[in-house]
Amino acid sequence: MKLAASRSHAAVHAGPRVVPFEFLDTQPIIASTIILDIDGTITPDAKSEISPGVLGAIQSLANRNKVYLFSNHQNGVRNRALAQRLGLEYIDTPHRKPSRKVLGGMPMCHKTRPMIIIGDKILTDGLFASRIGARFIRVARVLSSSDPKLVRLAYFLDNMIAYLLTKLREISHRDDSLEVT
Ligand SMILES: [Mg+2]
Repeated sequence: MKLAASRSHAAVHAGPRVVPFEFLDTQPIIASTIILDIDGTITPDAKSEISPGVLGAIQSLANRNKVYLFSNHQNGVRNRALAQRLGLEYIDTPHRKPSRKVLGGMPMCHKTRPMIIIGDKILTDGLFASRIGARFIRVARVLSSSDPKLVRLAYFLDNMIAYLLTKLREISHRDDSLEVT
């Protein structure tokens, strides 16, 4: 498994207030259980390379929180090897986000702390967070020139949903402030 500077292919989709995982301000995140997505969040889709910046952010989070890796990608061998390489635990379950059943792969003691889902997709990570009552931190996606067309289409649709939700939230906030004044 390579430890490589992947900034060259770490082109990112940038939505409003969304930063790549490696630039996340991890300092305020403490005493929480974090479920960290893999594909598109810390690596390009289906890849294993971890950039030094991503590695630093993971270590910073893991110093003050319990961090689990989890991916909807059914490559258990890659996922477990990555978790071992990073010194993290992997949620071993046949279920996939956004199913609440994913939590069945975690010990109860880690479910009682504040839970944070970090990922790149609103339709899986964001919906999963919403369904389990967790906080969702959406990060700018790690892309690769070798991403398959189907994966790019899924990214496009997810970006559209995220954009629409952001616009709806802005309209809702604008209406709320008009009511106050
Ligand atoms: Mg992802």
